[in-house]
Amino acid sequence: MNDLEQRPTWDEYFLLMAKLAATRSTCLAFPVGAVIVKDRQVVATGYNGSPSGSVHCTSQGYCYPGLETCAASASLPSRAVHAEANAIAQAARHGIATEGATIYVTLEPCLSCLKLIISAGIREVFYETSFNKGEKALVRDSFIDEGLVTLKQIYLSEKITKKSADFLSYPTSLLSAGN
Ligand SMILES: [Zn+2]
Ligand SMILES: [Zn+2]
Repeated sequence: MNDLEQRPTWDEYFLLMAKLAATRSTCLAFPVGAVIVKDRQVVATGYNGSPSGSVHCTSQGYCYPGLETCAASASLPSRAVHAEANAIAQAARHGIATEGATIYVTLEPCLSCLKLIISAGIREVFYETSFNKGEKALVRDSFIDEGLVTLKQIYLSEKITKKSADFLSYPTSLLSAGN
């Protein structure tokens, strides 16, 4: 089997979708994407962005007046609705049950999102980049110890990363794709 014939695992498949969702982020302090999955079906997606109707950071160029970029706000309160919260809100708007679902996120959920995830009945979290440290990690671990949720860090394999980049760069319905 050559590299192009290798297919992503289910975890890689949904992480790839979360990474695609992250490209829609409108607050660039943390470009984050999330997909909620049930029975191997995507039921909702979300990305990090200003609340519906509020100006996009990417339009004004910063999070708050006085800052030059969103990145400068990384340690300040976020003005964005986080990707996980947006995905859960999207499910709510469309009447889609999240009980027993799994969420794939490009960044480990912050505590607010983790609490929301648990209360939405989502039991499994897969994330690419870790986030919580110190006391925040202690609170996270207390929820895990209570059996409320599981968290697992996952990555794309080098081969799938390369294949995905090729698929994004070239038309994929041609036999010569990537050549
Ligand atoms: Zn911003
Ligand atoms: Zn969050």
